[in-house]
Amino acid sequence: MNSKRGISKLAKVIVCASVVGSIGFYNLLAPNAYEVYVNGRAVACVKDMNAAGTMVNKVYSELVNRFKGIKIDKDTVYLSVIANSEAISSEEDIRNNIINALSTKVKAVEMRVDGNLVAILASKEEGQKVVSLLSTHYSNKAAQDNEKFPGISSKIEYKEVEVNLSQVDVVEDTVKKLIENTDKGTSPAVKIAYASKDEKTVIANRQKTISMAVPSRGSISSNFGLRWGRMHEGIDIAANTGEPIYAAMDGKVIYSGWASGYGKMIKIQHEDNIQTIYGHCSKLRVAVGDIVKKGQLIGDVGSTGNSTGPHLHFEVIINGKAVNPYPYIYKN
Ligand SMILES: [Zn+2]
Repeated sequence: MNSKRGISKLAKVIVCASVVGSIGFYNLLAPNAYEVYVNGRAVACVKDMNAAGTMVNKVYSELVNRFKGIKIDKDTVYLSVIANSEAISSEEDIRNNIINALSTKVKAVEMRVDGNLVAILASKEEGQKVVSLLSTHYSNKAAQDNEKFPGISSKIEYKEVEVNLSQVDVVEDTVKKLIENTDKGTSPAVKIAYASKDEKTVIANRQKTISMAVPSRGSISSNFGLRWGRMHEGIDIAANTGEPIYAAMDGKVIYSGWASGYGKMIKIQHEDNIQTIYGHCSKLRVAVGDIVKKGQLIGDVGSTGNSTGPHLHFEVIINGKAVNPYPYIYKN
């Protein structure tokens, strides 16, 4: 800690103590939190100064990563204060407050879709990420309706600009806004190119030739596709712990054990370069190398790994790419 920071902190402690002391509650109301100031603006109220420092540095390093060559003029001061628990800031608030307090000019790009300004992003790469997340979202939506998704047909343009840091949008928010507008038919939105009838028939026929058993009885609690800005590469079937999980097709078990995020997980290799994954199991009833039949009991539903309640996370991977399992298990 440098001396300037130390003095500021001490000064506030003394002020707090004398105010509090004069009303006689000094022992009860000792400073219990820290206010963090960046460039003279309060950006956070936190319980623990080390955690605050870590969080502030995390925001700075995110900015340095996002905006290459950014120079951040920052003067961070920690003041010891008395705060009640409602005053403690969330990480998101802290991030937004810091960005507003910095008022740094940055090089960014305007992203235009069919001539309409949709966002100011840090780079063209971020714009391309927006497009790719949109494509994934709409291609999954199309798959669910047995349609083929040839792509987004909008004209996308980028222009370099210099703006205030606080004017720059976030990739995830941009995607969310564009999906909302596109679905509601309001501007700015993207144009989605859908397939002709013939192509739809090809896809539907393909799904018919791959016939899968329903891997677990229960209702779908989460679909395949974009969820909270991230890809959910399978479907979640809610069921009670201990309910049976069945192999979707004939195949050979290539994994049965713990996998990060998935908890206890089974992976089966099928013909035609198809694989299926069964996650969050409570019990694994097959071992690597086992040959299984379609509909065979392979494990029990559970909530192991990154899961908030008992369910089966089921994935279908064709030629190395996760596809929407829904049409394969429910539309045969
Ligand atoms: Zn899942």
